[in-house]
Amino acid sequence: MNGGSSSNPVKGTLKCHKTGRDVPLSHPVCQAPDEPCKYRSECMIYALEQDEKEAQRKKRAAN
Ligand code: SF4
Repeated sequence: MNGGSSSNPVKGTLKCHKTGRDVPLSHPVCQAPDEPCKYRSECMIYALEQDEKEAQRKKRAAN
């Protein structure tokens, strides 16, 4: 798989393929949200961030 992020030797992180940064799984945040990224459609970091935002939206809507 050649997605935007991949499992990393550093435990509990994913690597952003655009910037090379290690991103903690506990706080997945896209490393270049305002720039075009060819990896975005397959990026696990980006997908997890979107899931987290959606969960927060639902939580707020329920309150
Ligand atoms: S979508 Fe964001 S986190 Fe994923 S590879 Fe691109 S810049 Fe990095």
